[in-house]
Formats: sequence, C-alpha cells, structure tokens
Amino acid sequence: VEDMKGIVYHSKIRVFCRIRPLTRAEQAKRGHTIIACLDDYSVILETPRGPREFQFDKIFNPECTQEEVFTESSGQCAIDGFNVCIFAYGHTGSGKTFTMVGDRDRRNPGIIPRTFTKIFEIIHDNESKFEFKVSAYMLELYNDRLQDLFVSPAEAFSKRIEIKRDRKGLVFAQGAETKEAASAGELFALFEQGCANRHIAATKSSRSHLIIGIMIESRNLTNGSVSFGKLSLVDLAGSERASKTGAKDDQLKEANSINKSLSALGDVISALSMEQPHVPYRNNKLTQLMQDSLGGNAKTLMFLNISPSDCNLDETLTSLIYATRVK
Ligand code: ADP
Ligand code: MG
Repeated sequence: VEDMKGIVYHSKIRVFCRIRPLTRAEQAKRGHTIIACLDDYSVILETPRGPREFQFDKIFNPECTQEEVFTESSGQCAIDGFNVCIFAYGHTGSGKTFTMVGDRDRRNPGIIPRTFTKIFEIIHDNESKFEFKVSAYMLELYNDRLQDLFVSPAEAFSKRIEIKRDRKGLVFAQGAETKEAASAGELFALFEQGCANRHIAATKSSRSHLIIGIMIESRNLTNGSVSFGKLSLVDLAGSERASKTGAKDDQLKEANSINKSLSALGDVISALSMEQPHVPYRNNKLTQLMQDSLGGNAKTLMFLNISPSDCNLDETLTSLIYATRVK
C-alpha cells in the first residue's frame, strides 16, 4: 500500500474520495449509511459479504465543506506553466456536479467557480511582473459527439468539432469557440452561458461529459519569455450501468458510449500509474481531449464521488473498484 501511494504521488495523479451526506429523500426512506471513514485515507464499505476497505490519497467525509475540498485541491492552478486536470467520477446522484460546480442556486460554489476566482487572484498578485491572457472553451461530449457550449444549441448542432493539438502539445477543439476573459466575473459569465446552452440542448446533463478548458498564457515582462498552462475541468457523465435502469434503444446507446469513454479513461490513468510506455489516449474522444492534462508533466486530480446510502451499494462498490484500478 505504501508503494502504491508512492506511485500515485510520483505519477502526479491523485485520487480523492468524497462521500456526500444522505439526501432528504434517502433519510425519508430510512436509508442508512454503509460507508465509514477509518481515517483521512481509508474507507470501509459494508457489503453483504462483509466489510471492504479502500484507500485514497484523501477522503472527504459528508461534513466536509466546499471550501475545505477546494483548499485541498487548489495547489493545482496551471498558472505555473503546468497543465492540470480535475475531474469528478461517480454514478448519477453521487455528488459530482455539487463538487465541481456547486448546488443549483450557486450558494455553495464548487471547484469550478472557486478556481476562476483563484486564477485571477494569482494573476492580480503577479501583474507587476507578468502579462496574462486567459481564454476558455466549453464542450459537451454526448454519444461520442462534441458540442460547443459557447454557441446556441441550434448553431452547435450544425458544427463539426475536431480534436487537434497545437505546436506546444496543447489540445484544442477545432471548430469550437475559444473566448477570452479578463476577470473571474467574465469567466464565470461565460461558464453560466455555457450551462444555459447545455440545459436548452436535448441531452440530459447526467448522460454527457462536461469539459472546460482554460488556457493561461503568461509573458514575463522583464525578459519577454512566454509560458503556457492549461486547466481542464471535467464533470463526467454518470457511471451507472445500463442494466440497472432497464435502458433500451437510445438509452442503451447513451450508456454504451458512456461506458466506453469511462473505461478508456480508466485505461489511460492505469497505464500512467503503472508507467507503461504506451498510453492509449486515442481510443476515445474523452481521453483525446484530456490528453494534454493527463500524464507528462500534468497534475491530475480525480474525485471519486460516492453516496453513503445502502440503496446505492452496487454503484458505490463498482466506483470504488474503478478507482482502485486507476491507482
Ligand atoms: P451528480 O452530479 O453526481 O449526479 P449531484 O451533484 O447532482 O450528483 O448531487 C445529487 C444531490 O445531492 C444534489 O441535490 C446535491 O445538491 C446533493 N449533494 C451532493 N453532494 C453533496 C454534499 N457534499 N453536501 C450536500 N449536498 C450534496
Ligand atoms: Mg451531475
């Protein structure tokens, strides 16, 4: 286990597990908690076959605040020329969007809005020595199709987006809008517009991946040298299996496409963790899009979101096993 932790650290991939509280509905149904934290690094899941223990780089229990979660992950900001990826994995209802975006009325902001603020705080502190340029794209990946969230759904539907890499190795989405932002407020307004476009589109947000890329260019005012950093923030589609929901036709197609992309992501991270020479980025659009912020010098942070409730036992166990595999 110590060795595993070492590998996770050296390969710059960290996996944090966040357990959400029981929801009101679960409490009303007398749902009970089947997960317990042993310490900051291990959880125990009660299964019908007995308890199982899983280890992480950090566990956030249901009482942990958004601020605590952000503080632990905010060493990751891409200002220093490194690429960073933060993504949330878990079944629908496990707390991914709460962690990445926050709650619906935005009273409890998650990683994404807090990161926007932090980026411009750092910029502000360094403005006397550097000139910064911040730009972003925002995409939805649904049934293997990329959709630009910075344009209206009607316009997005007719556009074809291709994943390319520029000379610096940074991934960009050819055909998608890249917008500049001069403040955290502007970046947040772009994000809100993207979310609104996503809601208008026919896809259910739990069945598509949300990907935001933020590019930060900094020019040293003394010597003119320029460095680039990129931050990818990803709210993945729900990891639940199709069979559970009794899916058919369209739903089955959705589920298959999600399963394919999530297992491609698992394959990439596990290849990186095991320091395998070949990393299979090209197997899926999701991993192609995340390529510049997974592996190499990039710092990657995965949130495994889980529900504490007995009614999610199967999904929670599957998630915990997925996370163990990517370590
Ligand atoms: P997902 O995006 O994985 O489908 P959500 O983020 O929408 O899940 O969370 C499901 C519900 O649980 C939402 O009502 C959300 O506000 C609530 N929730 C999730 N995580 C937390 C948390 N850590 N604290 C309080 N409420 C949470
Ligand atoms: Mg969600």
